Amino acid sequence: MVDTAVRMVGVAGEQWDSLVAVLDLIRRDEARTRAELGRQLALGRSLVTQRVGQLIGSGLVEEGSLGSSTGGRAPRELRFRASAGTVLVAELGVTKVSVGRTDLSGALIEHHEQAWDIAQGPDASLRQIGDLFDTFGHREPVWGIGLGVPGPVEFLSGRPIAPPMMPGWDGFPVRDWLAARYAAPVWVDNEVNAMALGEYRAGLGRGIDDQVFVKIGSGIGAGLISGGRLHRGAQGCAGDVGHVAVTDPVGTICRCGRSGCLEAVAGGYALVRDATAAAAEGHSEHLAARLMAMGRLEPRDVTGAAEFGDRVAMELMNRAGRRIGEMLATLVNFYNPSLIVVGGGVAAVGDQLLAAIRQNVYQRSLPLATRDLRIVASELDDRAGLVGAGLMVIDELFSSERIRYWFDCRTPAGRPELAAC
Ligand SMILES: [Zn+2]
Repeated sequence: MVDTAVRMVGVAGEQWDSLVAVLDLIRRDEARTRAELGRQLALGRSLVTQRVGQLIGSGLVEEGSLGSSTGGRAPRELRFRASAGTVLVAELGVTKVSVGRTDLSGALIEHHEQAWDIAQGPDASLRQIGDLFDTFGHREPVWGIGLGVPGPVEFLSGRPIAPPMMPGWDGFPVRDWLAARYAAPVWVDNEVNAMALGEYRAGLGRGIDDQVFVKIGSGIGAGLISGGRLHRGAQGCAGDVGHVAVTDPVGTICRCGRSGCLEAVAGGYALVRDATAAAAEGHSEHLAARLMAMGRLEPRDVTGAAEFGDRVAMELMNRAGRRIGEMLATLVNFYNPSLIVVGGGVAAVGDQLLAAIRQNVYQRSLPLATRDLRIVASELDDRAGLVGAGLMVIDELFSSERIRYWFDCRTPAGRPELAAC
C-alpha cells in the first residue's frame, strides 16, 4: 500500500517535471515544434503530444503559423501565450521607487520611476507602490507581484530582516500586505538579487552560469548566480558585501552602526559625505560650486566632477574603486565567477570607477581565477531590478513545485497562498 502511494506520487512528480520541461522550452523560444521538443528533451512522440495538448488546453500555449517542413506536411509552430496574464514589479531604493509591468515572458511593457524616501516606512511605501501600480492601464489579470528592497530579506516569508537602510521595516510582512491588496502571489527579495537575475537572464550575463552582480548605489551589495541559479544562502543574506570589514584607519561609522564597513568608505553615501567635506574645506572649486548651486551633493555630482577632471573627485572615485576591487578580488578567489556585472546609480555614470575596480581585481586575484573573467557595466542599467523581479515571479509560478497547484484552474491570479506553498 505504502509502496503504491510512493510510486504514484513519484509518477505524478515526473508528469509535472516533463510538463514544465516542455513549457520551459516553448516559453524561452528554444523549441517551436513537437518534433524539436521531442529531440531536445529525448521524450517520445506520444508523451510530447500529450504534454503539448495539456498546455494548449490550459491556455498557456497556442498553435501559430506553419513552420518550415523537412519533407511531408509542415508542422504548426507552438507559441507561449505571454499575454495571458501580467506581472507587477517594483524596486524600492533608499531614495527612489520604480514600478513596472511585464508580460509572462518577462518583457517589461511599461515602467515608471519617482523619488521616494524609504524611511517613510512600510505602510506609506507600499501604499505608494500600490497607487503607482493602479495607474497602469492593463486588462490582463495580475498573475503575480515581485518586489526588490534594498536590504536582506527572508525569502520564504517575504519579510526584510534587520535591514540597515530601511528604518521601520524589520520583520514587516511585506508579502502579506501586497498579497492582501492584490489577491495575487507575491515574492520579495533583496533588490540586488533581482538585478543579478535580470542581468543573467535578459542582459549581458545571458548564458553565463557563474556570475556576480555588484550594485554600487547609495550602499553596496552583490547578487550571486552560481551554476545557473541565484544563490540566496541559508538566511537569504548571501552577497551582503556592503558590510564586510575593510582596513579603515579612521574607523568610519557605517549606517549599520558598526565601523570599518566597505559601504562606509566606498558607497555613494560615503562619496557624497567626503565630497561635501572637501567642498566645504575649499579643496575642490568644482564640487564647491555644485554644492552652492544645489544645496547638497548627489553621487552623480561626484562622478560628474571626476569625469570633468576634478582632482578631489577623481581621488575619491579611485579610492572607492580600489576598496570595491579589493573586496571583489576576495570574492573572485573564493568563488571563481566568469563575469562581474557592475551596476547601480554610482556605477552607471562613470567609467573611471569601473577602470579602478578592474585594475584592483586583476591585480589581487589568482591568475587562474581571472583568466576568463570579464568585468563589465550593466546593460539593463536601471531596468535590471524590475526585469529580474518579473523573472523571479515567472520562474516561481512555472516551477514544477508550484505549477501543479494552479494548472488545473488555468491561472494563479486570485491565489496569494501560492507564494507560501
Ligand atoms: Zn555597515
